[in-house]
Amino acid sequence: MAQEYVRFRIDLAIPKSDWDDAPAGQRNKIRLDILDIKSRALKINQGKQNEEDTIMAKWHVCRHEFGDCPCIEIDISEDVPNIAQKRKL
Ligand SMILES: [Zn+2]
Repeated sequence: MAQEYVRFRIDLAIPKSDWDDAPAGQRNKIRLDILDIKSRALKINQGKQNEEDTIMAKWHVCRHEFGDCPCIEIDISEDVPNIAQKRKL
């Protein structure tokens, strides 16, 4: 049976310094809201040849201006400030 989906396709680059300056409660609320949406997501056409990876929410810390420094991409379930400390961003 055909199924309609509400699908979020979001790619919003915020300067990390602005993100770091935002109140911790606001940052955590955004993360928790995304995790809540992710918990409701299903894979479109799951188990079929045309299955889509529609249960994906990641942090992507862009470092394009740092020469050969690779971008860092981690699952949204991890917290960016903690990872930044671990990896010395
Ligand atoms: Zn990047």
